[in-house]
Amino acid sequence: MCQSCEVLRINGVLCHESGCPDAWRDYDRECEECGCDFRPEERDQAFCSPCCAAAHYGQECDCESCETFRRETCPAEDDEE
Ligand SMILES: [Zn+2]
Ligand SMILES: [Zn+2]
Ligand SMILES: [Zn+2]
Repeated sequence: MCQSCEVLRINGVLCHESGCPDAWRDYDRECEECGCDFRPEERDQAFCSPCCAAAHYGQECDCESCETFRRETCPAEDDEE
């Protein structure tokens, strides 16, 4: 379960020993951009998705779903800004 500590199961909830470096893996955290709960894959991951990370830093996300969304919502001809 955890390679860094003895995990306890309390009321069905996994509890790492305090100070366990791997404890973050078992807890959801709140996305700093959209506020939804997500399970981080990286220790210092602050956003649920690349889309939220891009939005937070004022960048345009280049993932496929955002590209599609932009194509559908803002036609290329209508490029005033
Ligand atoms: Zn642990
Ligand atoms: Zn998010
Ligand atoms: Zn995206």
